[in-house]
Amino acid sequence: MTKLRWGLMGASDIAATRMIPAFRAAGDDVVGVLSGKADRARSYATAHGLDVATDDAAELLDRSDITAVYVSSTNDKHHAQAMAAIDAGKHVLCEKPLALTYADAMAMVDAAERAGVVFAVNHHLPGAGTHRTVQRLVRDGAIGTPLAVRVAHAVLLPERLRGWRLDAVPGGGVILDVTCHDASAINAILPMPPLVVTAVATSQGSWGSGAYDTAMTVIRYGDGVLAQTHDAFTIGFAKTSLEVHGTSGSITATGVMTQDPVGEVRLVDANGPRDIPVDDRRDLYQIILEGFHAAVAGGGRPTVTGVEGARALAVALAAQESADSRRPVDVHLAPTAA
Ligand code: NDP
Repeated sequence: MTKLRWGLMGASDIAATRMIPAFRAAGDDVVGVLSGKADRARSYATAHGLDVATDDAAELLDRSDITAVYVSSTNDKHHAQAMAAIDAGKHVLCEKPLALTYADAMAMVDAAERAGVVFAVNHHLPGAGTHRTVQRLVRDGAIGTPLAVRVAHAVLLPERLRGWRLDAVPGGGVILDVTCHDASAINAILPMPPLVVTAVATSQGSWGSGAYDTAMTVIRYGDGVLAQTHDAFTIGFAKTSLEVHGTSGSITATGVMTQDPVGEVRLVDANGPRDIPVDDRRDLYQIILEGFHAAVAGGGRPTVTGVEGARALAVALAAQESADSRRPVDVHLAPTAA
């Protein structure tokens, strides 16, 4: 496997808690970090054993020993930072949401294609062993024709993350944070495109959030399939779940809307209920990195491609617009990405 040498754009929690360990577990090196503040870059680099700490993107991107870049800054910075990394000829793993507009996300996809670099999105759910089990059951016809999907992804936002996500800033709020993940998971299950989105959102947390911290969304996919999601930063004691209902059966996956390789999958049909074994319990981010490595080596595709990340974003942006306007919003995908 090609060893990658990563530069981090964003001195983030997710890089510290999940991705730096995952890069190292994959046998890669993490060379340096870019932060908006030089002193923060230095303290972050020291804490995580990185050689390079800078507040100058060019200093990171000009280094020939960095072959791949992981973008995990706040959502408003993903587009510009990923574009700069692509321009510098680096392979890019970008956090979700890819950008704040669908056009920007597709511009990143196009730029990566022109530059001949791998561009992937760190949507961890579609590659999870549980989710792939659900995808396989649906693909194999275990529930007949899909009719509906229900996602419960209402959690309590950890105290350490109660910053920009709760602010009325571009990229803040639960829809771009969580609904975007749901869309990546549902899109990977349903073969038809998302068409129309209706969302109702509010702020209900004791923190007096300036952004939506709760949203309920309904998405109409092709062939009349409906999907429904409940996303929240405010719910402390609920289990997450993913259900897919079809003409001849139902799948209920419990505890699977999470960053950890946990949760159960159950199928009910005319033969009664049964647990479906989940064979792959590997770390979700290691799965992402395995796909990324395969794509860099030329023998595979990323777990979630840029086009797929843009499609998840399109659904989330439609939900955001619907919640703001109190109207249903059509999802417009580029013809090549529908
Ligand atoms: P953080 O708030 O930890 O980091 C985002 C940015 O905030 C950092 O890049 C940093 O800016 C700044 N920052 C963070 N902590 C501090 C601090 N103590 N003092 C000053 N500035 C600080 O965000 P997350 O790690 O939660 O999320 C980062 C990205 O990753 C988001 O796009 C999010 O959507 C995504 N994400 C994805 C997950 C997944 O499973 N795929 C899970 C969690 C997040 P600077 O770099 O300028 O220092």
